[in-house]
Amino acid sequence: MIKVGIVGYGTIGRRVAMAVSIQPDMHVSGILKTKPDYLAREASRDFKVFCSDEKALNNFKEAGMPCHGTLDNLIDDSDIIVDASPEGNGKKDLEVYKAHKKPAIFQGGEEPSIAEASFNAYSNYNDSYGKKYVRVVSCNTTGLARTLSVVRDNFGIEHISAVLVRRGADPNDSRGGPINALEPSLKFPSHHAPDLKTVLGNVDVNTVAIKAPTTLMHVHTVQVEMNYPATAEQITDLLKEKRRILLVSGKNGVTSTAQIMDLAREMGRDRSDLYEIAVWKESITVKEKRLNYIQAIHQESDVVPENVDAIRAMMQLANQEESIAKTDASMNIGKGAI
Ligand code: NAD
Repeated sequence: MIKVGIVGYGTIGRRVAMAVSIQPDMHVSGILKTKPDYLAREASRDFKVFCSDEKALNNFKEAGMPCHGTLDNLIDDSDIIVDASPEGNGKKDLEVYKAHKKPAIFQGGEEPSIAEASFNAYSNYNDSYGKKYVRVVSCNTTGLARTLSVVRDNFGIEHISAVLVRRGADPNDSRGGPINALEPSLKFPSHHAPDLKTVLGNVDVNTVAIKAPTTLMHVHTVQVEMNYPATAEQITDLLKEKRRILLVSGKNGVTSTAQIMDLAREMGRDRSDLYEIAVWKESITVKEKRLNYIQAIHQESDVVPENVDAIRAMMQLANQEESIAKTDASMNIGKGAI
């Protein structure tokens, strides 16, 4: 059993902790918290809680909450760390992990240069095999890489152009925004295009992103010029085969992100999460080599199975197919197609 330490227990960290805890070949050695808040209290029912430093340790003591040590202790108790601390913090943590000679996974808010490889299970699992420092790309890049790797592998890609309508804030965030505006990224390409290349290869890609007043999901409209002509039926069948892609349809009442999230609740998912990328079936349109489709991304959870697979790749526990199959079986992924 691989011992996994989780540093940062926010939107991503707490979900990765849950996902790791249900894998047959790994378990959670502990989670790191900075404050004795409601999340620390809830986490302590399932996991050993460690504190970020001596000051936090005292705050936990004063709050009467259990704390099993500091970051150094958590690292010593772990074979690998998943760092899901706030964007930009990873660079500082990397030095600590290096000092302890422990491998670590970072998240998409960090610069690609923090790691030896960027990771997406479908598009480039093998690039992280046996590596010590890996970055799981952002929720948006994960969504693009999943569906576009299917196109790349079957018809080739000449050019990609995508518009990303991004959620303004996560549901637990009362400070983010905008609350009454649309905020474009103002430059072509947005940072998503170079990020996509870190996992999909050197494709010609242009992206623009617009932040919108919603907390539920991101929506992407994607246009691809393929190397070879295809039909909408061929593309639909190929996407349908992938467990981490969920085809949805307006004909079944799924006309917006509201119904997609409602569907996830009905599917009985932990925290009402949707790990799969939802692609609207009727949006898949092909004219010779030009493909268009629209997809929705549950930003809080699509990277969670990727973190689990990244652990297996780095620790050389399984090949791509085996790891994805194990993760999907444990998390019930791919069971909700239309
Ligand atoms: P978050 O703010 O929800 O959680 C971060 C947690 O880390 C908080 O609980 C915070 O208290 C804690 N923290 C603060 N300083 C810390 C420190 N020094 N050490 C350890 N923990 C500390 O953030 P998040 O949304 O989970 O994002 C984490 C990473 O995942 C970022 O790189 C982000 O870009 C990426 N990511 C976020 C999303 C998303 O939609 N939220 C999706 C994919 C990837």
